[in-house]
Amino acid sequence: MRVTNGSDVKNGVVISTDKLVRKFHVGRSELVALKEVSLEFRRGEFAGLVGPSGSGKTTLLNIIGTLDTPTSGSATVLGEQVEKLSPVQAASLRSHQIGFIFQTFNLLPVYTAYENVEFPLLLLGLSSAERRKKVTDALEWVGLADRANSKPTQLSGGESQRVAIARAVVKRPELVLADEPTANLDADNSHKILQTMVGLNRDLGTTFIFATHDEKVIRYLRRKITLVDGRVASDVLQEGQTGRDMTQLSSIGIVSQAGTERSTSSS
Ligand code: ADP
Ligand code: MG
Repeated sequence: MRVTNGSDVKNGVVISTDKLVRKFHVGRSELVALKEVSLEFRRGEFAGLVGPSGSGKTTLLNIIGTLDTPTSGSATVLGEQVEKLSPVQAASLRSHQIGFIFQTFNLLPVYTAYENVEFPLLLLGLSSAERRKKVTDALEWVGLADRANSKPTQLSGGESQRVAIARAVVKRPELVLADEPTANLDADNSHKILQTMVGLNRDLGTTFIFATHDEKVIRYLRRKITLVDGRVASDVLQEGQTGRDMTQLSSIGIVSQAGTERSTSSS
């Protein structure tokens, strides 16, 4: 299939949803998890879906990530209409352009950190030398170059989530989706992984979208979209959350492509 490379993304809009509805059948009743959600995200955003448990955050993130499809309405992600993609097309879009970070890290336990990060690259048909360079870079970005040979059982929760971040960004996707990434981390590790992601957002230009109800995460968001009972209750920019005073990844090997100042990308 055609691989989206972002060139067909109009005006920097990488995601748009139009009156997105997602209903679930629970027994005989119907539960409406998303109610006409219309949103746009631009390239390079650092945005979060926030709101209480059950408000629809994961459901929306899953549709954006092409893991689920809407009951009605439409979602366009990186130029592709999610509800029109075949499973194979959706898998291809994900494997090339979308990185996922989960609450439970989801590392493969029998593989080393290196092998876990390399895993998404095996689907892309790169040479082993190309893979080695990318995996080494990604582990350096998250500060774990020296733990490449450790297995998940030998890593702390914070280190495991850093491996998961490296795995999400190793293919340099347009988009990273993180669902409650700090839920299993203490405060110190939560701040560390947020700082790492802020740096990757700034230095790689990757768009990050979070689903979270963790105040520690919310503080870092540049844009905060609050869902209440499946609807967008508010959508605000949090000025000052532009990555200032955060770890400069350029100092550990990322050459900044976008310059140090990325403009606030939403309007
Ligand atoms: P959040 O991530 O904000 O906690 P979710 O998106 O997981 O919320 O869930 C929103 C609502 O949809 C909840 O009421 C939840 O129980 C329901 N829901 C989510 N997934 C399913 C499913 N697969 N089947 C039935 N109900 C679901
Ligand atoms: Mg959730």
